[in-house]
This record gives sequence, structure tokens and C-alpha cells, in this order.
Amino acid sequence: MKIIKFDVGDILQMRKLHPCGSDKFEVMRVGSDIRVKCAGCGRDTTVPRIKLEKNIKNVETRGVKVE
Ligand SMILES: [Zn+2]
Repeated sequence: MKIIKFDVGDILQMRKLHPCGSDKFEVMRVGSDIRVKCAGCGRDTTVPRIKLEKNIKNVETRGVKVE
């Protein structure tokens, strides 16, 4: 199983489109629930992490990574 890593500020490309037609969501907050904001219409939503990870197609890193 592939582990998907993402952080606040990253853009997630999802398999399932938002009702507005966008497939990209910006990560607003991470935890056991993930808060994401739709890049198309700007609405934000909170999704359980497990559910969200299954739906991720690609991650575009925007934030500065501290190793
Ligand atoms: Zn939307």
C-alpha cells in the first residue's frame, strides 16, 4: 500500500470531482480529519483522512518542506 504524504498548503488532485467541476483541493488543516478548500469554487469541507486518501490521485507540493 502506498503512503500518501501531504501537508498544509499542498494541492490535492482528486479522483472524484467537486460538484463545481474542479478536481483540485488545497489542504487547509491536517489531523484525523482533513480540511480542504476547493480550488474551483473556494468552498471548504472537512473529510476523514481515510476517506480522503482513497480519493487522492496526485499531490502537488506548494508548502516549504522542513526536513
Ligand atoms: Zn468546488
